[in-house]
Amino acid sequence: MIRAKGIAAFAAKQPLGPYAFERRDPRPNDVVIDIKYCGICHSDVHQARDEWGGSQFPMVPGHEIAGVVTAVGTAVTKHKVGDRVGVGCLVDSCRTCESCERTLEQYCLKGANFTYNGLEKDGKTVTQGGYSNVIVVDENYTLRIPDALPLDKAAPLLCAGVTLYSPLKHWKAGPGKRVGIMGLGGLGHMGVKIGVAMGAEVTVISRNDSKKQDALGMGAHHFLATDTPDALKAHAGTFDLIINTVSADIDMGPYFQLLKLDAALVVVGVPEKPLSIHPFPLIGMRRSYAGSLIGSIRETQDMLDFCAAKNITPDIETIAPEGINAAYDRVVKSDVRYRFVVDMGKL
Ligand SMILES: [Zn+2]
Ligand SMILES: [Zn+2]
Repeated sequence: MIRAKGIAAFAAKQPLGPYAFERRDPRPNDVVIDIKYCGICHSDVHQARDEWGGSQFPMVPGHEIAGVVTAVGTAVTKHKVGDRVGVGCLVDSCRTCESCERTLEQYCLKGANFTYNGLEKDGKTVTQGGYSNVIVVDENYTLRIPDALPLDKAAPLLCAGVTLYSPLKHWKAGPGKRVGIMGLGGLGHMGVKIGVAMGAEVTVISRNDSKKQDALGMGAHHFLATDTPDALKAHAGTFDLIINTVSADIDMGPYFQLLKLDAALVVVGVPEKPLSIHPFPLIGMRRSYAGSLIGSIRETQDMLDFCAAKNITPDIETIAPEGINAAYDRVVKSDVRYRFVVDMGKL
């Protein structure tokens, strides 16, 4: 076994702290990765604090992992020692179900193996994530990080980046399409940058105009502050696609009204309580209310290559591992522009 150091949550209401644990020895198809950086995703906070239920402790969170390969198994062909690589939300899946056959492993019908707070394929070993110095992952679930992307800025692409890239691609954002991004946080700011690079006309839809300059600086074409009376009404029926990154409980009706005939509003942020929606605005214009979960391994690689080619990186604030607890409190308050990245080299 490989001895690993990490930062773990030990119980729902305790601060995270240092944790010594073990990683498996590399199997023939595994790569061993020296973790350099790991992003902090809001879902890390939800799971470390057991806000979704069923959390397994001790838990080493983190699924925005960027590092360098230090060893490979005997059968590995896709990566070699010294390669810059990333690991996102998935470390394995069944590989045989209809979703996996379509290379949509995030929708694995048997349940994908998530990077932490999940189980490995043996069905009993708990997975541990990226707030750590080392991880062992199957080569097929390990991404190539292009040279043009610095490792610290590549990290948040592995979850936040692909969570927006996947629906933008699936619902065909591009030239001639009007795309709305609800909420300018870790997810939303990636949606703006990627949507603009895809050629879409992008509007940020936000509670007030406190982030207007940031949004325009990221390339957004328009900014819609919803605290202005009738702000949404004035744009009714003008959007081809809206992606909702906001996890707050809001009345969706006025947002459905923004969509054109046949257009979709896609949710990627999860509110704490179930939503109550009125179907009239959906029925009236054959609109869709849809959901999207992270992205597949293939989409994640496409997204990394796309971001490298288009020079897209997240706006990050880098912290040392001992700053994780303070960072969690700031994530909850949306007090970060726009993603925390932990320098795991300082562990
Ligand atoms: Zn995430
Ligand atoms: Zn599957």
